[in-house]
Amino acid sequence: NERARYAVVEGGTSQGVLKAYLQEHYPHLRHSLPDAPAGTTIAANVALHGQGRLTQQYGFNSEMVCGLEVVLPTGEICRVGSPSLGPYWFSRSPTLPDLSGLFLGWLGTTGIITKVGLRLYPNKRFREVEIFVTDIPELVPEVIYRLTHLELLEDITAWFQPKPLMFKDNYHVTMYFTGDSQEEVDFKRKMVWDSLQEFMDSKDGGFMVVDPLKPQLLEMPQRSVAEFADVPRGGGFEYSGPITLVEHFPKYALKVVELAKKYDLLYSGMARVISGGHAMMFAISFAFNRADRDMMERVKMAMDEATEFALQMGSIPWKPNFMEQKMILQKMDPVTRGLIQRVRRLLDPDNIMNPGNWEV
Ligand SMILES: Cc1cc2nc3c(=O)[nH]c(=O)nc-3n(C[C@H](O)[C@H](O)[C@H](O)COP(=O)(O)OP(=O)(O)OC[C@H]3O[C@@H](n4cnc5c(N)ncnc54)[C@H](O)[C@@H]3O)c2cc1C
Repeated sequence: NERARYAVVEGGTSQGVLKAYLQEHYPHLRHSLPDAPAGTTIAANVALHGQGRLTQQYGFNSEMVCGLEVVLPTGEICRVGSPSLGPYWFSRSPTLPDLSGLFLGWLGTTGIITKVGLRLYPNKRFREVEIFVTDIPELVPEVIYRLTHLELLEDITAWFQPKPLMFKDNYHVTMYFTGDSQEEVDFKRKMVWDSLQEFMDSKDGGFMVVDPLKPQLLEMPQRSVAEFADVPRGGGFEYSGPITLVEHFPKYALKVVELAKKYDLLYSGMARVISGGHAMMFAISFAFNRADRDMMERVKMAMDEATEFALQMGSIPWKPNFMEQKMILQKMDPVTRGLIQRVRRLLDPDNIMNPGNWEV
């Protein structure tokens, strides 16, 4: 629905297919594309509360869902939101009880999503990028606070990595902005520069020249994550991505370096701002050689320690694997844990749906 800006996709529709379809038929519309491989599905991404290019502006990709069709463990087909009342997919809940919460975040344990209504957003003609650099990790939350106050940026990420050497010992805040005219883009750039002028005057940071990096930075999805996997040769990388407060950035940054030193690994840290700064996803990543078993074991230990740290910090591990789910459930308030168990039993009494996940 072009005018109401939403699309309805089937359970197996990939990110790449929707992107290509919109580019061809509705080039003025876009969805919140994650940096995941193009073949990953939209249904899976919302089922695990993914984040994409528009998450800074509009929240988790799962918050952009505006209707669901789900096959329940009983085999019944259930429609959630406005499609349960009529042909339109404009609302997942208001003003009904929000049944989408029975399926989003459950990793397929309560039903199989076969259709997703997904909000679309304006796709402007120009897209630009700037990078602010500082060597003070404590400054990053303040930089993000000022940038989100502007309410005009598309995506904001904060990252650091020791290789290549040009990035070593610095913290980079990458910000993307869009416009339908050069005037709009220039206005946004001016607002961004003005908001951080104080840190340039005090020599605590500055904007780096981005021109040589632009083609790579403006790619969607970005391939730099996959390139990181090949720095130690052997094409492996693993990350843990807790959802946490932006003000915790310096503590996470310290932890990544500490873990890399302890387990002798190559690291990268990257945070994506969620919903105007209400939270961030902080990816603690380690690259490894898939032919080196010892290195893989060290990555696993570093990951488990990263999850322990995230839970101590009051964060929510994102996309949790079995081990992480276990750790979350152990730490969780017992009443909340009990409710999760009761909902699962109610919907799936025979425990046939993705067993092992979210099991109390
Ligand atoms: C290089 C790289 C970069 C990435 N960058 C991002 C990023 O920027 N943002 C982001 O959000 N993610 C990112 N990811 C993660 C990626 O988005 C998710 O792994 C992906 O969305 C999962 O898609 P999939 O099709 O592989 O799902 P699967 O791995 O098959 O499924 C994921 C989970 O969802 C459940 N599920 C799958 N389909 C359904 C369904 N129809 N109904 C109910 N439950 C279902 C599964 O049971 C499983 O628990 C990245 C991954 C890689 C490898």
